[in-house]
Amino acid sequence: MSLAALPSKVVLASGNVGKLREINAIIGGLGMQAVPQSDFDVPDADETGLSFVENAILKARHAARLTGLPAIADDSGLEVDILKGAPGIYSARFAGPGASDEDNVHKLLRELDGVPESQRTARFQCLMVFLTHEMDPTPLICQGSWEGRILLEPVGENGFGYDPVFYVPGECCASAQLVPAVKNRLSHRGQALSRLLRELNGVR
Ligand code: IMP
Repeated sequence: MSLAALPSKVVLASGNVGKLREINAIIGGLGMQAVPQSDFDVPDADETGLSFVENAILKARHAARLTGLPAIADDSGLEVDILKGAPGIYSARFAGPGASDEDNVHKLLRELDGVPESQRTARFQCLMVFLTHEMDPTPLICQGSWEGRILLEPVGENGFGYDPVFYVPGECCASAQLVPAVKNRLSHRGQALSRLLRELNGVR
């Protein structure tokens, strides 16, 4: 990334309101504002990469190309050790195209049927990318990962995705039992975002 000064406006390659709020809470302090790509009628990019970082770059480049603005994108998912890292980049569609969070969780629990607690280790990964423009040859890449274990059944009402089956050892509960402020502080996305903040602060 080569930046002489921070831009005041960037496009966020996501329409997710929760992500927009989290990201703006962080970069707002630097005088920057993220605007969702849907405000510019940018359609979702094809996520054809084979890794989180490839997909995050594809999404950010697509948004930068269609808006002419600097772009931020993230790609995240769950890696389960005994499943050799699955569902990984396919976390959102583990149970098939259009699968709901419940479908994905049930498929995961079925695949882990009979696997003892000690072998149910897993982590959430988040890759966050900042591109100054479409052709930026040195994307700023920040990673966060959050270690845990897959529970035997879902518990908790908060969060989304795999939160009800993701046990957080340090808090002795599922991620879906954490209040949002605590999850944001600990999570893969929270970690990637605070790294992004530190990097951007260096430009200021
Ligand atoms: P995306 O990066 O928004 O495409 O998220 C990919 C998928 O990973 C989501 O649909 C969820 O299934 C899963 N995922 C990512 N982050 C989390 C999280 O914080 N909690 C639970 N599931 C998550």
